[in-house]
This record gives sequence, C-alpha cells and structure tokens, in this order.
Amino acid sequence: MSLLNEPLQFGVAARPARVTLAGAGPGDPELLTVKAANALRAASVVLYDHLVSKAVIDLVPSTASRLYVGKEAGNHTLSQESIIELMIRLARAGRPVLRLKGGDPYVFGRGGEEVQALAAHGIPFEVIPGISAAQGAAAYAGIPLTHRDHARTLVFVTGHLRSEGAERVVDLDWPMLARPHQTVVIYMGVGTLPVICSQLMAHGASPETPAALVERATLPDQRTVAGTLQTLPTLALVHDVRPPAIIMIGGVVSLHEQLGAINVPGTVSLSDG
Ligand code: SAH
Repeated sequence: MSLLNEPLQFGVAARPARVTLAGAGPGDPELLTVKAANALRAASVVLYDHLVSKAVIDLVPSTASRLYVGKEAGNHTLSQESIIELMIRLARAGRPVLRLKGGDPYVFGRGGEEVQALAAHGIPFEVIPGISAAQGAAAYAGIPLTHRDHARTLVFVTGHLRSEGAERVVDLDWPMLARPHQTVVIYMGVGTLPVICSQLMAHGASPETPAALVERATLPDQRTVAGTLQTLPTLALVHDVRPPAIIMIGGVVSLHEQLGAINVPGTVSLSDG
C-alpha cells in the first residue's frame, strides 16, 4: 500500500480530534457492541486490521475513508509505528479516527501501546471494548470458559514466537499452564501448537487433557477440531487448520461434544472421538 509513501499533507487543527479504538469482535457482525456499531456508522476515517471481518467493514458508510493497515502474521502492511504516526497526524489535522481492531482492543491487540502513544502526544481517545476471540469461540463452539466441574481458573496466553538471538522460542510459564482444573486459551498459537502440547505434557499435564482448535470462530465457516493434548497437533495437520484459530485446553473442552453441535447448526465439528 502506498499510504506511507504519499506525502500526507494534513493541516493542523486548533485542537486535535479524537481517536476511537473500537473492538470489532471476532467476526460475526452481530457481535459488535451497540457503541461500536454507532461509532462505525458515524465514522469518516477508519483504520482496520486484518482480523476485522468483511461483514463488519461493510457497515462502514461508503462516504468514509477505509484504510487497511494490515497485520497478518509476518506481513504488516504498515508497521506499528507508522499506524500510530498516521493516527496522530490525522487527529492533529482535526480528523476523528476510528481505529477498528479484531476482538477486544486490549486483548493481545497492541491497543494498550496505541493509546499510550496517543496519550503521550496529547491526543484525546476513547476505547470501546469488543468480544474477544476466546469468548466468541466459547459461545459458538459450546466450550464454556469456566465450569465448576472443570475449571475455576481461566488463563489467556499468546503462543506467539519470540526471537531470542537466532532462535525462535515460545516463552511461557509451562509449570503454571500445565496445572489441572483450569482452562488455558491460547491466541496466535496455530504455528506453535506441537511445541505447546509437548511442553504441557512434559510439565505434567495429562496427555488425555481435552484440547481443541476453533478456526474462524463466529464466522459462517467456523470449524472446531477437538481432541487431546496428545492428538490435537496431528488432527490440526490432517484438517489443515489455519489462522485465525484459537486453542482451548482443559476439561471444559469435553463439553463441546454435548454443547457444540446444538449451538450453531451450520458449523463443522471434527473430533477424534
Ligand atoms: N484482540 C483480538 C486478538 C488479537 S491476536 C481479540 O481480542 O480476539 C490474534 C489472534 O486472535 C489470532 O491469532 C487468533 O488466535 C485469535 N482470533 C482472532 N479472531 C479469531 C477468530 N475469529 N477465530 C479464532 N481465533 C481468532
């Protein structure tokens, strides 16, 4: 995209306009909050990420400028710094900005970093929460995040790889994540699923611990692949699961069999059972 190369000649307004950081939810446009939907309808400049579903973007008025700022794994259309810089320049020019982010802006979306930069530059901002992928996947795949028989602790973690010198590592608190009676939800973990499952088992989690992948949660083509820590990596390969997908681990995943099929008749559910 040429945005960065264009000489953006914005004027400077007496007072900067507001930036609204809104959660777009996991995909189904009906999962937008009323507040986010109102902000969308009133928007004049919308900056959105890869994970914001097309059905949500379609709600933006045709008169508004829509700027795709990317962010597929390893393929950032604009760098994080350029996105922040663009928002600041637009706001300073008196143009209110709607920054749409997949799910909830404050869950693994770098929303915190973006508003920190806005705050540091004196730009007024507002944050509208969204339904995060974990909640969307839970409801639409029939996997309650907590349940008194299965989990009283709920953990959200990122399975994203971190560079450590030449090495790429998943740097997580494995002993904590391997504990029983909890639900572990892993964002950005499709590529590292085999490492995640083997590390959890190496740290004492039972190989029989129920585990599932929910791909494209809440979208019409949502798929759930359910198995155990032992079987899920192979099932993911066999069924060619691709991002965006979320990993759910723990006893609650066993409820998918009973609650998943009834919930959303159109969705595909695959398991090794
Ligand atoms: N802020 C977002 C998360 C951004 S991190 C939120 O609150 O949901 C990106 C990760 O979110 C993806 O790698 C995937 O693990 C998860 N994700 C986002 N949308 C998803 C969807 N519709 N289905 C499954 N996982 C999704």
